[in-house]
Amino acid sequence: ISMAYYMGMDFGTSGARLTVIEDDGSTVFETKRAYAHAEQDWSSAWERLLWELLDSVPEKIRSEVVSVAFDGTSATSILVNQVDGKVLAPVKLYNEAQAEQAVQAVKAIAPASHTTSASTSTLCKLMAWHLEEVWQQAESHGMKPCLMHQADWLASLLHGSRSVSDWNNALKLGFDPETEAYPEWLNNQAFSHLLPSTVLAPGSPVAPLTAAAALRSGLPGSINGSSQPGCLVCAGTTDSIAAFVAAGVTEAGQAVTSLGSTLAIKMLSQTRVDDATYGVYSHRLGNSWLVGGASNTGGAVLRKFFADSELHSLTQKMDLSCPTGLDYYPLVKPGERFPINDPGLRPRLEPRPADNVVFLQGVLESMARIEGEAYKLLVQLGASPAVTEVLTAGGGAVNEMWTQLRAGAIGVPVSAAKHGDASYGAALLARQGWRSHCSAQTKKES
Ligand code: ADP
Repeated sequence: ISMAYYMGMDFGTSGARLTVIEDDGSTVFETKRAYAHAEQDWSSAWERLLWELLDSVPEKIRSEVVSVAFDGTSATSILVNQVDGKVLAPVKLYNEAQAEQAVQAVKAIAPASHTTSASTSTLCKLMAWHLEEVWQQAESHGMKPCLMHQADWLASLLHGSRSVSDWNNALKLGFDPETEAYPEWLNNQAFSHLLPSTVLAPGSPVAPLTAAAALRSGLPGSINGSSQPGCLVCAGTTDSIAAFVAAGVTEAGQAVTSLGSTLAIKMLSQTRVDDATYGVYSHRLGNSWLVGGASNTGGAVLRKFFADSELHSLTQKMDLSCPTGLDYYPLVKPGERFPINDPGLRPRLEPRPADNVVFLQGVLESMARIEGEAYKLLVQLGASPAVTEVLTAGGGAVNEMWTQLRAGAIGVPVSAAKHGDASYGAALLARQGWRSHCSAQTKKES
């Protein structure tokens, strides 16, 4: 019997991961690989890995994949010729701050404290290419330059269209997901014709695989004369949103805390919240808003004091019924944005008890307190309703004692997310895209 499989691919900072799921959400295949020689030419490294990962999927599974979606690092930008896909300038990575001149030029056109005015934003990257006259020169050579995000570009290698993006990737370019359009101040610019012309909801169907991509990848192509369209490529998202989607959160009030090097929180809200002071902003997901912020406290501080194995053994010895009363603000270096905006905030890790078990408990209690304050602040800033449940992703999710402390500090149930890989979230988006494609077909036929 024929199965329907859905594929998600996550292109992260050091490598890429591919996940294939079936209709009930269970994983049937998963693999990951690191980029090779990426610094010399990022887009070639991504493309090599794309075909390699696809090749590594067992034939039996690959031939039954009905849809695919990608996520990429947010604000990783690429300038290509729309006609043939030729890359026109070195890729600008997610974390590359642009020169002051470009940042000032964006600040001059965008509303005060807009997301695009961060020096790493996609718009600052496009502005830098504009000021360096990169696209103008390409045009004078008869090319048709266009701006793409990493995830858009990878998808285009499969569906062939270079003018499609999604709400989440396009946010740092200045796209307004509320009106589903670029604002006037952006449309007025000399470079506005470089912006992706179609910006879709993450997980919406874009187009089937091209015949060439089907041949190259071994994914199912369209069958002549049949209604079978071949593998459907769906609109993707950014890596952190894909990781949120992976956790399976669907109701307003539900949230995901990511306990990696830093502490990042994201909750589904009926209302949109943007507050530049705290670095809080909202992505649109379906008809809800994904409101998020990030604190500089988190696992990096733990790692400074303890090896992971030590964390594990010390945690076992903690007595949660005896709160330490230690009031820390654990940071690696001065400076905090959320839930306290103070660029000069000093790490507070004194007094240090002689017993490491007590010290660790004090650090975890303090981080739990900060997390609780972070969720409270989101609601004060307008998120609605208040948080009802927190799922946990990242390295800290394994720590059950910490989980208990956090449940106490936030005042809601806290548990580990079953799935935390962005590629799994991308696979869920591919499933969503296939389902909406099928229901649109059914409507057409009836
Ligand atoms: P990132 O991807 O940001 O590097 P990870 O999600 O891999 O982060 O998480 C790594 C972090 O998890 C480390 O900073 C480490 O201190 C923390 N960590 C690992 N094991 C534990 C544990 N048992 N309890 C609490 N934190 C832990």
